[in-house]
Amino acid sequence: MNDCIFCKIAKGEIPADKVYEDKNCLAFLDITPINPGHVLLIPKEHYENLYDLPDEELKNLAPIIKKLAVAIKKGVNAEGINIGMNNERPAGQLVPHAHFHIMPRFSNDNLRHWPGKSYQEDESKQVAEQIKKFL
Ligand code: AMP
Ligand code: ZN
Repeated sequence: MNDCIFCKIAKGEIPADKVYEDKNCLAFLDITPINPGHVLLIPKEHYENLYDLPDEELKNLAPIIKKLAVAIKKGVNAEGINIGMNNERPAGQLVPHAHFHIMPRFSNDNLRHWPGKSYQEDESKQVAEQIKKFL
């Protein structure tokens, strides 16, 4: 996609603070980090989100996510790491080029876990069945 900001970063047309690169993927600092050391990992090819991402790409990215998590933890002395991926606008995806967030966490960073809801009686069984239909 010509006007995709992450494609432009992958091609070197827009600057980024790169931390890792190989033939398939690129990792760079998020420009508005939740904490310093927040990294984005992208496939160099343009895929919009997880649904479009071929399994082969995912297989390449998975060990890099782990490698980055370990390096970020050491590099910024993080006490924990969150891995995130926003898919589609209602889930918070702003840049429509598939990307993983690898985010350092600290016990005093004042960020909160997402709030949990409760199921009504038997609702959880129905929901599990609905999902299983598509697997
Ligand atoms: P998402 O909401 O999951 O689509 O996340 C997009 C992320 O991309 C946000 O956290 C932005 O801060 C980050 N971002 C947007 N533009 C740039 C850029 N030019 N360089 C680095 N990070 C960026
Ligand atoms: Zn793109």
